[in-house]
This record gives sequence, structure tokens and C-alpha cells, in this order.
Amino acid sequence: MVLVEIDEHSGFCLGVVKAINKAERFLDNSHQTLYSLGDIVHNNQEVSRLENKGMQTITLENLANLEHADILFRAHGEPPSTYELARKQGHRLIDATCPVVLGLQARIRRVYEANKDNDTQLVLFGKSGHAEVVGLLGQTNNTAIVVETVSDISKIDFSRPVFLFSQTTKSLDEFRELVAVIRQSMQPGVRFEYRDTICRQVANRLPHLRDFSTKYDSVLFVSGTKSSNGRALYEACRQVNPKTFFISSPDDVRPSMIEGASRIGICGATSTPFWLMEEVKKHVQKVLSEL
Ligand code: SF4
Repeated sequence: MVLVEIDEHSGFCLGVVKAINKAERFLDNSHQTLYSLGDIVHNNQEVSRLENKGMQTITLENLANLEHADILFRAHGEPPSTYELARKQGHRLIDATCPVVLGLQARIRRVYEANKDNDTQLVLFGKSGHAEVVGLLGQTNNTAIVVETVSDISKIDFSRPVFLFSQTTKSLDEFRELVAVIRQSMQPGVRFEYRDTICRQVANRLPHLRDFSTKYDSVLFVSGTKSSNGRALYEACRQVNPKTFFISSPDDVRPSMIEGASRIGICGATSTPFWLMEEVKKHVQKVLSEL
């Protein structure tokens, strides 16, 4: 008998759960169109499920062309300019920004306000263009320097003070490496401060998933292809168990992924719905019965 188990710690983080609950409550009670600015979660199946209930995903350009609509801001948060635009267009806001992201936006704004008239550089460790980073940058009037990897540090002037923050979903190991490299590069006597603002909902998942992946002959990692968090967590699982496979839906399961395995693990990213992992499990059991 082949054991097929789902990792019970996988699935949406609290911020995404709250955003989806807010959207669903609105859709169930008002029966009106809810416009989500960007994908509510980087998972096509979950987006389609909500779209079937009346949600529509829109771009910033669409937001500017609509008037008096019900607009959802997702967990990643938005810059002040988007709030201004929504006000100008007379939209009603359902603000589902994750409280952790809101807190980080406020911290960055405070540091920006306190230092905007001196030569301190605000540095943000994050992915350029990522929605959360756009929202965080907006707190600094788009003046912060975005560093994606350690190799980007040439953007920083080490003769001037540096204040470093991180996007909530970055890797803790990479952040620590970045702190060490910046510290070494600073000119003597120049101030360097940093705040570890990585969300533990994601950071704690990495060691847990590594541990989970070692316990199975085959691991099916379920995630949308657009999720950067999903790609990073999948790579971490694959490093400890080379028989880890990235899939986005039950249809992606191939017999070769599970053939010969007596223990099969199913896990996913913070943007992977639990119901999708359950569907993958059912499909795996069906494929096994046909082998
Ligand atoms: S990963 Fe953390 S900060 Fe980001 S949405 Fe989820 S709970 Fe909020």
C-alpha cells in the first residue's frame, strides 16, 4: 500500500487567508462585481474559483478607467499613489492588505520621514517590480534602492549611512548574507542599520518543508508558476530530495513521478490552496490504481 500524505503546514499564509475571506464575504453578501487589483493570490485555480463567484482581476490602468466600483487591494499592499487614484475615481475600497505588510509600510515610512533631509540611503532587499515592493517603495516616494541579490550592492554608496529593510517573503539566509556583505563594505564610522522584516509565515516554512521532503520517496510540490515564493520553496525541497516535482494542477502528475515510490508527499507554497493539494492527492491515488 502506497502512503500518500499532504503536508498539513502547507497552504495559504494568514495574510492570504484573510484576503480571500474578505473577498468571499463581499461576494457572498453583495452579489456585485468585486474588482481585485492584481491576482488576489499567485494561483490560477484559486483566482478562477473566485472569478466564478463574481470577482474580476484588473490592472492599474483599468482602475483608472473605472468609477465608483468595489475594489479589493490584495495582501501585498499598495503604494499611497494607488490609494489616491482610488479616492479620485470614487471607488469603495475593500483593503485586504496583510497586517504584517501594513506594519512594514508604516515602519519604512517613519524611517523615510526621519531621514529624508539627510544623506541616509534606504535600501530594500526585494524583487524589483513585485507588488509588495512597489507598495513599500511608495512609502519612500520611490527613493529607496532595491537590491535583489548580493551582486546588486554596487547600487549602494558605502560612504553614506544605510538603513536596510527586507520584503516580507525574501530568504532569511540571503538577508543575513546581505547584511554581512554590506557591513564589511561600509566605510569606517559610517552608520549601518538594518531590520529583519521577513515574515516568519514564510521563513519558518522553509526548514519545515526541507524536513518534510526528506521523509518521502517522491514529493509533489504544488504551486502556481507565477509565485516567486513557490519557486524558491520548490528549489529548497529539490535540494534535499531530487525526486521533488513542481506541478500546478492534478493534470500535471505523470506516472514517472510516482512510479516505484512507497511514500509520496504533497506540499506547496504559501499561495497554494489546500483544496488543490487534496485534488492532487485524489488524482495520485487514481494514477497509482492504474499503474
Ligand atoms: S507571507 Fe506574511 S506578510 Fe506576506 S501576506 Fe503572508 S502573512 Fe502577510
